[in-house]
Amino acid sequence: MTKKILILPGDGIGQEIVAEAVKILNALKANHGLDVELIDGLVGGAAYDETGSPLPEETLAKARECDAVLLGAVGGYKWESLDISVRPEKGLLGLRKELGLFANLRPAILYPQLADASTLKPEIVSGLDLMIVRELTGGIYFGQPRGVRTLDSGERQGYNTLVYSESEVDRIVRVAMDIAMKRGKRVCSVDKANVLECTEMWREVATKVGADYPEVALSHMYVDNAAMQLVRAPKQFDVMVTTNMFGDILSDCAAMLTGSIGMLPSASLDENGKGMYEPIHGSAPDIAGQNVANPLATILSVAMMLRYSLDEPAMAERIEAAVNQVLDDGLRTADIHSDGMTKVGTAEMGDAVTAAL
Ligand code: NAD
Repeated sequence: MTKKILILPGDGIGQEIVAEAVKILNALKANHGLDVELIDGLVGGAAYDETGSPLPEETLAKARECDAVLLGAVGGYKWESLDISVRPEKGLLGLRKELGLFANLRPAILYPQLADASTLKPEIVSGLDLMIVRELTGGIYFGQPRGVRTLDSGERQGYNTLVYSESEVDRIVRVAMDIAMKRGKRVCSVDKANVLECTEMWREVATKVGADYPEVALSHMYVDNAAMQLVRAPKQFDVMVTTNMFGDILSDCAAMLTGSIGMLPSASLDENGKGMYEPIHGSAPDIAGQNVANPLATILSVAMMLRYSLDEPAMAERIEAAVNQVLDDGLRTADIHSDGMTKVGTAEMGDAVTAAL
């Protein structure tokens, strides 16, 4: 059956990088039998300008109906002074919430060709291929009660609540286990079980889920040690699974191990494997409209979509191999350019990957 993909370019470089990802999808359709229908939609500042809302009802309805969503990025100087309720970022958060996207997958892959882009020594990071699975709809970012109250003494006190139910932990750990089964069969669950009761329970539930996956080696690590290990010896990890806040911090840290924000894709999945796919970077208004943005994170997000939502792993591998090929050929956008390499623009990079498919 034809699968439907909602295409949401959004703002800034989102327009340019998504255009390149669409080239890839169209080439796979035309030449390799990919059976998909692409549907256009508005989100972020672009949607606000046209409809007065960063997430129009029509976009939400299309997103619900589609099998997957490809998003560029949202935001920009133009909309910074708007009321927070209609800022572009609300469109993104609204989509995550309304679609129930509880599992955030953030791979950190360092292509050997780009080992010099990292601030870490090449031998520490070259060939890094790590997947962080972050819980996205629970934990301290959403827990109630929360706020700032004034004590009897007159002093103000801020408070938030770290809360996870067993079922929330169970489902995110299962996502990590299923992914590990398709990779190196190792999962490290990150918590702070020595201090926080909530994550002590997290560890118990993770252990229980682990028993259902005898082929996967499950380990546990405190978050402070995990942060240290990520910069000391990141290649020891295959899949890491953790809470919303720990994942927020560790995934940014892992992304920077690769040194190139323009290379990293991400996925956010619901209970049924439907997902939203986007590069980890923002709308980069400083370089928008100049044909210099790196489209590879968005193109690699399409590969993730094919693997995790559309059940087309061979097509995903085809894209990843094509990206490897253009890097081997020495093509580089400005953000990853180094001496001796050929500097290309956004569209040229997209064309080169399309040709290499
Ligand atoms: P950013 O990721 O947009 O840019 C950070 C730096 O990285 C900039 O110098 C930019 O030029 C560069 N960069 C980013 N993507 C690149 C690419 N593909 N190729 C080459 N260089 C690239 O982060 P920011 O500057 O903090 O935020 C800009 C806007 O994006 C803000 O409005 C912010 O709210 C929004 N934002 C959106 C998302 C999202 O849509 N998921 C994520 C982060 C930030």
